[in-house]
Amino acid sequence: MSEQTFTGMAFSHFLSEHRLMGSRCAACDEIHVPPRPFCNHCEGESEWVELSGRGQLAAFTVVYIAPTAMLEAGYGRKQPYCSGVVELDEGPRISAQILGVDVAHPETITIGTPLRAAFVERGEGEAKRTFLAFEVVA
Ligand SMILES: [Zn+2]
Repeated sequence: MSEQTFTGMAFSHFLSEHRLMGSRCAACDEIHVPPRPFCNHCEGESEWVELSGRGQLAAFTVVYIAPTAMLEAGYGRKQPYCSGVVELDEGPRISAQILGVDVAHPETITIGTPLRAAFVERGEGEAKRTFLAFEVVA
């Protein structure tokens, strides 16, 4: 498989199929999410690996000043959202929106909360995109 395939576009395409894919170093087994063409530890070549989407909350912040994509989704000063760093069961960390937490009461949001990947569709027609989020495992 060509290194050209380990792109943000390929990662997004897998998200649209509701799959969370990373790259695994063929030499040292290090997993990167989003994927990278080469390992940042040993520069070994990558291969695709499908991740379980399970993990836990490692850090978070409640966002009131939203970036453009989130403003368009209706978030902002009046409707803040939780952005978190998720430590995946496979080891790598990824930042994403955290769903199912009470952003009005951040003191109730707990580090270590079990999470699973959620795939959020936003936009219409040509502009439709799938965004990675994580939701609290009930
Ligand atoms: Zn490596």
